[in-house]
Order: sequence, then C-alpha cells, then structure tokens
Amino acid sequence: MKIRDMLRQNKFTLSFEVFPPKREGNVESLYSTVDNLIRCNPHFISVTYGAGGSTRDKTVEIASHIKNEHGQEVLAHLTCVGTTRHDIGRILDDLKDKHLENILALRGDPPQGKDVFMKTKGGFGYANELVEFIKEHDDFCIGVAGYPEKHLEAPSMAADMENLKRKVDAGGNFIITQLFFINDVFHRFRDLAVNRKISVPIIPGIFPLFNYSQISRIGSLCDPAIPSQLLDKLYKVRDKNEEVQKYGIEHAIRQCEDLLSNEVSGLHFCCMNKSDHVLEIVRQLSIPTQKTTSADEYY
Ligand SMILES: Cc1cc2nc3c(=O)[nH]c(=O)nc-3n(C[C@H](O)[C@H](O)[C@H](O)COP(=O)(O)OP(=O)(O)OC[C@H]3O[C@@H](n4cnc5c(N)ncnc54)[C@H](O)[C@@H]3O)c2cc1C
Repeated sequence: MKIRDMLRQNKFTLSFEVFPPKREGNVESLYSTVDNLIRCNPHFISVTYGAGGSTRDKTVEIASHIKNEHGQEVLAHLTCVGTTRHDIGRILDDLKDKHLENILALRGDPPQGKDVFMKTKGGFGYANELVEFIKEHDDFCIGVAGYPEKHLEAPSMAADMENLKRKVDAGGNFIITQLFFINDVFHRFRDLAVNRKISVPIIPGIFPLFNYSQISRIGSLCDPAIPSQLLDKLYKVRDKNEEVQKYGIEHAIRQCEDLLSNEVSGLHFCCMNKSDHVLEIVRQLSIPTQKTTSADEYY
C-alpha cells in the first residue's frame, strides 16, 4: 500500500528505519529484528541506502524480503550517489517488479573519503531532480528528507526551505525529518513549512540513544543540538550502556509524548537494527498502530 494513502486514511504512521548490514551473515539477525518490530504493527519499515550507494542491491533485496516474506509494507531509500539516470531507471523497474511502491528520494551523502557530493555524469545533482524522474517513470509514492536544523550545506534555513518546497512541488508526497533532540526545532520547522505552503505530511525522525559513542557519530553526520541536561546525564554514565539506554528511552518518550500531543503525522524511529529500546518506547506511548491492537497485546 502506498504510504500517502495510509497518511490520508489514518492521518498517522508509525515506522522504523533499518539499514542493510555490512556483513552478509548479519542479514538473518536483521530479519529477526524485523520480526520483533512487526509485533507492534508499524505502518512501514524503511530500509536505508548505504552512503556512496554502497548497499544498492542489498537495499532492494532486503526491502523486497520484508514486504514479500514478512508481509510488512516498506519504504526503500534511494540516492543519486554514483548513479546515472539509466541506473536509476533500472532500479525503479526492479522495485516495481518486486511490488515495492514507496521510495524515499535522496541526493545522498558523499561517499567515504570524499568531502563534497559530486554529481555523476548523466546523473542527478539534487534530490528534486530525482523526485521528478521517479514521478515521470511510474506511479510510486515518494518521500523526501527535511531538516529541522537546516541541512549542513545549506546557506540558510530559508534557502533549505525553498529546496524542500522544490522537492514537494516536484512530486514528494510526504517528508521524513532528520533526527532532532529538541522538539522546539521541529515545531519551528513545521511552522516554516506551513508558511511556505508546504502542505504534505511531515513525519518527525526520532533517534533513541542507546550508547554514548553515538553522540559523536551523529554529530559528524548532522550535528543536532542536544539539551545540555541530557548531555550531562549521559556523560556521567558514559561507560554504562544500560544507563545510557535508560536515559535515551526516557528522553525519546518525552519527545514523542509532546509530538503526539501536537498532532504529528507520524513517528519514524531510527532503531539501528535493534528492537528492544524502540519497542519499550512504543509500549509506553499511546500510539495509533496499523491494527487497533491494545499496547499490551504485543507483549
Ligand atoms: C530521513 C532521512 C533518511 C536518509 N536516508 C539516507 C540513506 O538511506 N542513504 C544516504 O546516503 N543518506 C541518507 N540520508 C542523508 C541524506 O542523503 C543527506 O542529508 C544528503 O546530504 C542530502 O540529501 P537530500 O535528499 O536532503 O538532498 P537535497 O534535497 O538535494 O539537498 C542537498 C543540499 O543541496 C541544497 N539544494 C538542493 N537543491 C538545490 C538547488 N537547486 N540549488 C542549490 N542548492 C540546492 C539543499 O538546501 C541542501 O543543502 C537521509 C536523511 C534523512 C533526513
């Protein structure tokens, strides 16, 4: 089912993001995580596309397995990195053959070892061009990325908002945001989008921290502001993963409660291929899941 139709019908989606494991042997472990995630009836699971296009085939293969073997709707990420129009056309045909209807269309980050994104000859320079191409190719449902704290390369929030508008006007059906830890940045971003007449659903991206080293890794990717009180607490327990996870869960729950009371279009959890912490968060929240199962039934 297309995510745009789910959003139209339910006005809310619960979703989880997983990534293709680097080692072949770890795919079975990913599928067992997926089985756990499915127990709380998400609307879809998204599968990332490795930096530099490194997991291109695996993304399609894993998304197809989740949809066709586990019976769970999926969103396949797709980037422009190292790819020509012709390559993208072939990937789109493959997605269609495998009954995959939802794509998150991204420009992508530079491949490892490169500082800047370089357009491939015969490829695309920005995500809005990819959105346009996908839309012309077939009737896929297309998601795009939004940045509550501005994309790192954008000269200003206004310029980044113009870009978001361009992606939506090109055919983006919904927006999933970059992770953030301070809800005010999301609320401001959503207000700016409304002012810019961006009317598609905006789904906030939530990253529940579960170990201390994630803070610097996330910082190098998108540099989100983190509340100093949370940072202090995490620093004090930096060597104790269980304690870090406890604070990470607490913070994510507080974020989600506020977002739910502000009528967000969904919650999209980056779960880093683990299920326990996100399932605990979902259990503690009153989230409208795909089936109207009471929260306790999945445990
Ligand atoms: C929810 C989510 C999921 C993601 N999943 C993945 C993934 O699976 N794989 C992966 O590699 N990366 C992923 N990313 C990261 C993403 O690829 C990077 O943030 C990338 O740097 C930008 O991608 P984009 O699609 O937002 O690019 P774009 O929308 O093209 O924007 C890139 C930059 O160019 C600027 N810009 C856009 N159009 C123009 C224009 N016409 N003129 C001038 N400037 C312009 C924008 O303001 C921005 O600064 C994800 C990000 C998010 C938020």
